[in-house]
Parts: sequence; C-alpha cells; structure tokens
Amino acid sequence: MSINAESLHKILELEHQKGYLDSAVIGGLDKFLRGWAAKAASSTANPQLLTRFQQLHLDKPDYTTKTKPQRQQWVSDVLNWLAEAMLEAGGKTTTKPIAKARPPSSKRKVPSLPGTQSLDSPITVIKGVSSTLATKFSKLGVETIRDLLYFFPHRHLDYSQRTSISQLTAGEERTIIANVWQAYETRLGNRKSTEAVVGDDTGNVRVVWFNNPYLARKLPPNTRIVLSGRVSVFGGRPVFESPEWEMVEDRELVHTGRLVPLYSLTQGLRPRQVRKLMKEVVDQWAWQMEDFLPAGLKQRRSFLNLPQAIRQAHYPEDEVMKDRARVRLAFDELFLLQLGVLRQKRDWQFSQPGHPLTASTPVLDNFVRSLPFELTTAQQRVLDEILADLQKSQPMCRLLQGEVGSGKTVVATTALLMAAANGYQGAFMAPTEILAEQHFTTICQLFSQAGQQETEEAYLRRYSGILPQPITVAMLIGDVTPSRKQELQQRIMDGEIDIIIGTHALIQKGVEFPRLGLAVVDEQHRFGVAQRSTLRQKGANPHVLVMTATPIPRTLALTLYGDLDLSVIDQLPPGRQTIKTKWLQPRQRESAYAFIRRQVAAGQQAFIICPLVEESEAIQARAAIAEHERLSQEVFAELRLGLLHGRLSAADKDKVMRRFRTGELNILVSTPVVEVGIDVPNATVMLVESADRFGLSQLHQFRGRVGRGQEQSYCMLLAENPSLVAGQRLNIIESVQDGFELAEKDLELRGPGEFFGTRQSGLPDLRMARLSDVPLLELARAEAIRLFEKDPGLEKAEHHLLTRELARVWKQGGEWS
Ligand code: ADP
Ligand code: MG
Repeated sequence: MSINAESLHKILELEHQKGYLDSAVIGGLDKFLRGWAAKAASSTANPQLLTRFQQLHLDKPDYTTKTKPQRQQWVSDVLNWLAEAMLEAGGKTTTKPIAKARPPSSKRKVPSLPGTQSLDSPITVIKGVSSTLATKFSKLGVETIRDLLYFFPHRHLDYSQRTSISQLTAGEERTIIANVWQAYETRLGNRKSTEAVVGDDTGNVRVVWFNNPYLARKLPPNTRIVLSGRVSVFGGRPVFESPEWEMVEDRELVHTGRLVPLYSLTQGLRPRQVRKLMKEVVDQWAWQMEDFLPAGLKQRRSFLNLPQAIRQAHYPEDEVMKDRARVRLAFDELFLLQLGVLRQKRDWQFSQPGHPLTASTPVLDNFVRSLPFELTTAQQRVLDEILADLQKSQPMCRLLQGEVGSGKTVVATTALLMAAANGYQGAFMAPTEILAEQHFTTICQLFSQAGQQETEEAYLRRYSGILPQPITVAMLIGDVTPSRKQELQQRIMDGEIDIIIGTHALIQKGVEFPRLGLAVVDEQHRFGVAQRSTLRQKGANPHVLVMTATPIPRTLALTLYGDLDLSVIDQLPPGRQTIKTKWLQPRQRESAYAFIRRQVAAGQQAFIICPLVEESEAIQARAAIAEHERLSQEVFAELRLGLLHGRLSAADKDKVMRRFRTGELNILVSTPVVEVGIDVPNATVMLVESADRFGLSQLHQFRGRVGRGQEQSYCMLLAENPSLVAGQRLNIIESVQDGFELAEKDLELRGPGEFFGTRQSGLPDLRMARLSDVPLLELARAEAIRLFEKDPGLEKAEHHLLTRELARVWKQGGEWS
C-alpha cells in the first residue's frame, strides 16, 4: 500500500492531544479526510484495506456530529488501525509510531518471523533472551511472549516533566536533555562512582551515580543524553543524584522523559534491561494480540483495543491513556471471570438433571420444634430458600452467608435431614478436623433431642424417631485408623450411612457416595472452586450448599461466587452482646493477663491466640508449644491450660477441645490456624497476640469465638509494632462490630487479590482489576449476563476468539474442571 499514513497519524495524534475539539486541521477533520481518503483509495488496490476504510468510515466520518466519547473512540480505532497497517506494510511506509516524548524513526522493528513463532512461544525465541534470562522470568511466572505482554509494571515514574537546567529545583522529579561535558570515575565516600558535568543552553549541572563507576566510560564528551530523576542540593547547588539516563538517539525513550514503567523484579533482573526488553516486545508483539472482546461491547463502553491497551499499560502516552488501558485490561479480567463462573453455573444446572426432593413437612416441623431455641426470622427465611431449591429438578448451588454465630449449622442440618428423609445421602464438609468434629457433635446433640440414640460406635451414631426409618450419622476424617476408615467408606458405599461429616478427606479418592443428594461445604474461604467441583462430581449432580462466615460485599460475592445463588442470614440470635474490643500496647500485656485471671476466677474461660509465625505450620506449632509452656509455667501457673495447633493428631485436638468445652481447661492457647467456627459459650475472653498481622476479617473471626453465652465478653488485641495500615485496622475493629461493615473496610484497606487470595480460590489471577472497584465489577457482570442471553452456548462466530480466551484463562487459573 502506498497511503500516506503519516500525515493522518500526525493529525489524529494532535486531535487527541487537543481534546477532540476538531481543531487539529484547518477546515475540520471531515474535510481533510475526504481529500485524504480519496487519494488513498485511488492509490491502493488492496481489497482488505478498502474494506477497513469503509468500516472506519474514513471517507465520511461525520466527525462534526460525533459526541466527545464517540470522537475519542473513533480516533483511537483509526490510530490503532494505522499502526497495524504500518506493521503489515513491513515498515515500508514513512509513518511514525505513536510517541510523544521523542517521535522517532522509520527504523521501527517489524516482526518478520518464521511461522512457528507465536505469542505462545517461549520467550527464548526473542533475540537477546538467553535461557538464563528465561529462567529468571520463569520465577515471575513468565514463560511465553504472551505472559510477557501481560507482565505489567506495578507503577510508573512520571518523568514527563521536561525542563531546562536553569529551572531545576530541588526535591522534584525532572527531565532534562543535555550535553555531556565530562564524565569520570570517582570515589564518593567509599563508593566507586561516576560523576559528570552536563549542560544545555541555560547552564550546567553536576550529576552523580553512586556505585556505578562503569558508566563513565559510556559517556564520552559531547554525548547527548536525557536525564530523569530527583534533584537535590549539594553545597548550595542542584545535583542530579543517580538519575535514569539514556542517549538521545533516533528512537523512542524508554527510561526517561516519559511515564517510565517500574516492574517487580526478581534477583538477577536489572530494571533497565527489563524495560528495554519490554519495550521491544511490546512494540513487536502487542499488535499481534487478537482482540477477543466483541466489537459491539467495546464500542458501547469506549474501551481501547487490546493491542493498544497492552501498549499503553506498559509505556503510556499520558496518565489518561494509562488509566484507559487499566480499565480495559481490568474489565477483561473481571469479564472473563464472570463468564467462567456463569458458564459453570449453567453447565452445572442444565447439563444433567438433579434430584428433586419432596419436602417432608412433618419431619422437618418436628425437628425444628425439638430445637432448644426458636429459629430467627433470617434463619427461617434462608431455610425456606434452601428447601425450595431442593425441590427443584435443577441442582441447587447456593452460597449461604452468615455472620459468625448467626446459626448456620442448624440450617444446614435441617437441609441434610430433608435429603435423608428422601432416601438420599448428605455430606457436610468442614475446613479442619476440629470443626468437622464440632459439627458431628452438634448434629448428634440435635438429633438426640429430636429422637433417640440407638447405636453408638466410634465416629458413628444411629437415631430413631426422627424419620420413619433410623438415620445414621458418621464422621470420616483423615486420621481415623486405616481399617476403621475403610469400614466407614464401605458403609458409605453400601448406602448405610445417611449423613457423612468430614474434611477434605471426603473428596479424596476412595470415597464413593452411591446416593449423594446434598453436599454442604462450611467456611467457604478455605474451599476453592476446585474442591467445589470435585465434590459435585462425587455424586450424580448433588445439590450444593456453601456456607461462609466471612461476610463478603454483595457485588464481590457475585463476582467470586457468581456460580452460586446467594442467601444471607443477616440477623443474630436474640440476646447476642457487643463484645468489648480493645487494642492494647505491649506494656499492657501484664494487665491483660491479670484481667484473664479475674475472669477465670469468676468461672469464665479464655482463648489466647499465639504470636503469628509465618514460616510453616511446623514452626508455628513449635512456637505455640513454647508460648504454651511460658504461659503455663510463668504466667498462669495456678490455672489449667490447653494447647491446640495444626500438628496435633485429630484425636489429640479433639481431646483438648473437649476438655476446654467441658470447662476442665481454663485457657486454650491456640495457633491462628484454628480460628474458624469453634463454639464454646462459656469463653468470654479472646486475647490475640500479633494482632497487627491479621486482616480485619480474621480478627473478626477470632472475636467471634467469644460472646456466645450470656456473660459480657471481651476481645483484647496486642500489637508489638503496628504499621500505619495495621493501626488503622486495629482502630476499626475496636469500634466496628458488624461483619459486613468490616468486610467493606477490609476491602478498602487491602490491595487486590489479598482480600480473598484469588489464587487460593482457584480463580484466574487478577492483575489489573481491583476487587474494590464496584462499578467495574457490576459492569463486567452485566455484560457477561447480556452476552449469555444473546449467545447462550458462546457458539457464534463473532465470539470465537472470546471462547478461546476463556478456555485459556480458566485453564491457567488452575483446577477448574
Ligand atoms: P455459625 O453461623 O457461626 O456457624 P453456629 O451455627 O455455630 O453459628 O451457631 C452459633 C450458636 O448459636 C450455637 O451455639 C447455636 O446453637 C446457637 N443458635 C443457633 N441458632 C440460634 C437461635 N435461633 N437462637 C438461639 N441460639 C441459636
Ligand atoms: Mg459455623
């Protein structure tokens, strides 16, 4: 092609800079384009090109009548296309690529690649990337060229403020273009360094690079360089201290004079080297990214094209473009996430029929009447929602959210009973053995009140008088003796056991449920998507109820658990108290101990959460043993203390828990591992060591262990040396009791991915998206739903790229099946 892309490119760039006021050319863009397009069209015979002309309305853009966002979109589309066209033309046009700081060059590199190289090729195919370098990138999760394009900087330095030497002021980040007068190796303090004097029309300035003596050799006199960095004052005169630098050459700036990307690096990777590589890769490869977003959607939301967004995310023209790039890429992540979970839900609900249960009203009524309390309105409402789901022929997939202590267990038990009443099996999974045991105990207690216990064996009970037939409850956990385990598994397989309670052990191989009708998963945040789907596959499409005590803001729940319907118990049983919460200084530790002593003397019990050691569970356990010893011998010698940590056998944990629950122990010293769900009404004090190291939700979980009985309860938080943010958290938890409010605050305080380790949950990585960005979350969800309405199977040709991207992203996200 021989179109004059350059002039159009320049004008549109200018139009962009001037804010889309149609002021880039005299007479307006419409007029200019009529002339330009006529010439271009007559000088090319390339049909593809002409088609694109028409698609972009190049001959008749009606620019004057467009709104500003429409103009912006149109300009960006055309610029994008021009750049692509340049690439296809093999660099033969005279067009310049988009650049602001220093418009270069016709020397733009153009990929002339053998057909075997693609975005999915390993990065070693890039010239200059050795296998050693590739190994370093591999540590950062970067294997392919595509990975590299998605390896975004964590932030940018703003070196776009160009100035002259006479106007340099201390303390500010500035960029100058200057001539090197002299540069020499020198010793500053005891550091070998480079010192230089550079000058421009307005004056001279001294530059020092500490610890970098070799630089002197690269800067012979009269070299023209760009310097970006902070200016300080030395001996009353401005000095550049270790600025970023690069030669003024016929190419775009990479390290200076613009928004310069900062990448999170691993050892052995140098920032300059990575920046240079990234620039090359982005220039060469970004344009080959196929944009998988449907065109209509992109237009509706004025999103950048994918190649442009990738480019701008690394080397943005300006803050506005950087932000637009982030929005586009963040939207992609949330949109693909939504599509994934929604598709999963569809597949799950419609692929195979489920097991519609019949409500056995008298049985359920009897059971509810036998409870030692009345259900709260919220419990009743949620129970009704669940029972309604269970009667449908599509399998239920519901998330039950309920504040700590809101009474989820009894709701789940009622649902399990309904499954049993219909001749199905029910499974109840907890994240830890302690909790599994607690559920087993609770359910057995409730059943013995509703009927009569007939049989008691290790890990198994049978009751009559609840259903017309006897009902059998068993527990299967990791460390049951192998022969007992085998026996229980056999009896599950024979269909003899109606309700099985356990941990992950339940979804391990070897456990087969012939008639699984309902699976309940407690404390969701320890159970990822992967476990959920494994469990589903255990039986033929069982109903699934997932329960969490971590209050998640609704929008976020819809994103992370978009495959589930949502029920909320938003009410605590009557008589629940406010737990007095106090952040204590280290010097107040003794008075905290004294307080515990007084509470114990009054007949109450206390939890002490050990200082957090992050290395490993084994080290954490050892630290807990030491702390327990210290407390038993030096602090509470007269009291009975128990110890709970992750390395104890289930039997030992059970023993300790039982002794604590029956009041035999006064104080339970525990690692943070066991934070969730434990219920001991007589405990009134929770003392948390290294409270500054926990998130708000986790602190709230700890606090939820007390305040379950009648007595006033207390939560004391000790922090050795809290950071600013940790201090904020402690202030918040002191004053806020409501779990949902805390969750919102937690989300504000923490970065993306941290709130809910998305990795741990089995979802694709979120790099650009912030989970606190509610409007974008909602947009992604709305667009995903809209897409499924239009194309339920995602089978239309125009969604082909999207389907492929979806498969790719979810495969990377791990274990989704
Ligand atoms: P969570 O929702 O945190 O799992 P649990 O199910 O463990 O809460 O219930 C916490 C405590 O509240 C238990 O001791 C339970 O017996 C009690 N409880 C549950 N529902 C009610 C209710 N409606 N009225 C009074 N106490 C209740
Ligand atoms: Mg619970």
